[in-house]
Amino acid sequence: YTESVQNYVNQVFETVKKRNPNESEFHQAVKEVFDSLIPVLVKNPQYINQAILERIVEPERVITFRVPWVDDHGNVRVNRGFRVQYSSALGPYKGGLRFHPSVNASIIKFLGFEQIFKNSLTGQPIGGGKGGADFDPKGKSDGEIMRFCQSFMLELSKYIGPDTDVPAGDIGVGSKEIGFLFGQYKKMRSTFEAGVLTGKGLSYGGSLARKEATGYGTVYFVEEMLKDNNLSFEGSTVVVSGSGNVSIYAIEKAMQLGAKVVACSDSNGYIYDKNGLNLETIKRIKEIEKKRISTYVADHPEAIYVESSNGIWTVPCDIALPCATQNEIDQNSAELLLSNGVKAIGEGANMPSTLEAVEIFLENNILFAPAKAANAGGVSVSALEMAQNSTRLSWTFEEVDSKLHAIMKSIYQNSKKAAQEYNAPGNLVVGANIAGFIKVADAMIEQGVI
Ligand code: GLU
Repeated sequence: YTESVQNYVNQVFETVKKRNPNESEFHQAVKEVFDSLIPVLVKNPQYINQAILERIVEPERVITFRVPWVDDHGNVRVNRGFRVQYSSALGPYKGGLRFHPSVNASIIKFLGFEQIFKNSLTGQPIGGGKGGADFDPKGKSDGEIMRFCQSFMLELSKYIGPDTDVPAGDIGVGSKEIGFLFGQYKKMRSTFEAGVLTGKGLSYGGSLARKEATGYGTVYFVEEMLKDNNLSFEGSTVVVSGSGNVSIYAIEKAMQLGAKVVACSDSNGYIYDKNGLNLETIKRIKEIEKKRISTYVADHPEAIYVESSNGIWTVPCDIALPCATQNEIDQNSAELLLSNGVKAIGEGANMPSTLEAVEIFLENNILFAPAKAANAGGVSVSALEMAQNSTRLSWTFEEVDSKLHAIMKSIYQNSKKAAQEYNAPGNLVVGANIAGFIKVADAMIEQGVI
């Protein structure tokens, strides 16, 4: 019977590829989930009878739109905007907006698809979605970014709302962009609907600890996984790729737990100091000066800067936290990490390891915390921000942080349990996919064929 289920899953996957040609990132994300689900489908034929796989891979709605804006020289520019409203089985669509030149239908669909299961794992009442544009905020003035955000929201506003679809940030969208987007939405509605966006500034409905949430959450999750295997951050050497929001707060929490963080990066290169990096300097460079990470060595001549897009994985470490972007760890980088003695991987970015890299880690019994589970802290606190907006209350940093910590622990336990139940003990990739899927699939069945 397992073989015929396998054939059925292959068939559905072929249809996905046919309907979404040339979307390699999307295919990759679907393949990983489908492979994990075979034993679930064997045990639960209702998911096959109810065509849950066929339904769950097809977004409920995909919106693509023109975003025209005027640059500082008076030139009219055009970008492509996206919003994929993937699944509303568990709540309003929820997921970030990414502004990056690499954004296309494949990237947004893979992110939206992963978001369904991630959001389910959080235990919060949120469905899955994602959006963005192929706009590059790098090198743009504040005026250009504002006009772009206003034009983007002029169209997006037709499709979102606090009980419909609640976007947030992702790569290239931080509190500045969320502010411009919120201002435009509010002006168009003539209503202060705080819960329409998350990641807002603290003065108009944002939540304390939202900025820290993804990075802290990744470290909380990895800490649980390490503890379960008699390891810890204390005294370990850590490499964290990226130097954005996720990376900075993963570094901060890892340091608080006694780790020595020796390297981080941006898309041009990485910095390395065998005695540990200085987080205050990194924060100043990235959050205030908004400069490249290469400028770090001017303040710290004891550190080195190496220009290389993913050379950071040549740095030996006990724990690697990829917090930059998709597919930043390929087979080659995985083998390098392995031969340098890595013990654990915690994915802060979305799908930072290729399928081949994940296989290498799992086959060699490296502790592996997959993105859907390990980076769910950001969207978890987004859901807590929505809860605060609905009740018109604001919780203290400690309140939000302790809720985040509890959520990450329970995601770890639920993923571990699901992996055990389906004969893949210790495989958190399989565990997270299964635990995330079952809740959504059951909700879909209860709600009928929709
Ligand atoms: N962009 C983040 C993610 O990938 C956060 C999404 C949100 O807060 O809605 O999960």
